[in-house]
Amino acid sequence: MSESLEEADLAAIAEVFTNYRMVDLSHRLQPGIPHFPTHSAFFHLPWSSINDPATMNVLLMHEHNGTHVDAPLHLILDSSKVDPEAHGIHNVSIDSLLGPCYCIKADLAAEETLSEADIKKWEDQFGPIAPGSVVLINFGWHKKWTLGEAGLEYVAGWPGLDRSAAQYLLGKQVKAVGTDCLGLDTSTSPDIPAHDVLLINGVLIMENLANLDELPPRSYFMAFPLPIHKGSGSPVRALALVPR
Ligand SMILES: [Zn+2]
Repeated sequence: MSESLEEADLAAIAEVFTNYRMVDLSHRLQPGIPHFPTHSAFFHLPWSSINDPATMNVLLMHEHNGTHVDAPLHLILDSSKVDPEAHGIHNVSIDSLLGPCYCIKADLAAEETLSEADIKKWEDQFGPIAPGSVVLINFGWHKKWTLGEAGLEYVAGWPGLDRSAAQYLLGKQVKAVGTDCLGLDTSTSPDIPAHDVLLINGVLIMENLANLDELPPRSYFMAFPLPIHKGSGSPVRALALVPR
């Protein structure tokens, strides 16, 4: 058993959460949310039992529905390197989505890509991206997230990272890269360079992030994946701490 915290330690931890406001970066999960064209939809089905008066439902969902993280297992193009035990989401460390956060605003048109030069331009303005951080790209796409037919605009034509951007962030030793689109690569990318470069090297990818417009350039990020054995990804409740 670990050593017990002193009252002063508890106060110090509590103070962080009273001094900083949490911005919720996860979309609400419910039937009808947009989903990747080749993935299954999200289902939430009532479950009743004659012998049990409790209210309960069955969740039937794709690992990549809603705001989620991709495990390395999700995309390793060289199949000889795939090891579900080593690359599954259960094996990702619990603090892998915890750290200083940089939110890069990128006003790109549909299908356009963010490059290394674009990220360097952002760093010139806001400061260098530190190792061990989480980088989020705000394409403004989260504003298209809506239920049903109206959400079809969200599921086509989204922008993403090009190979130079992914390689640059890998070189920066970031922990994870997130986007407010359905994928970190553009919707019609033939070679999905961001997934290809980042996942095999242990840099996690988060997709369908919400409310990125509320984030300043720097904040503190946290999200925790579910330990799904051999999972290719997991839904996350993502949040960022910002000044009150
Ligand atoms: Zn995914």
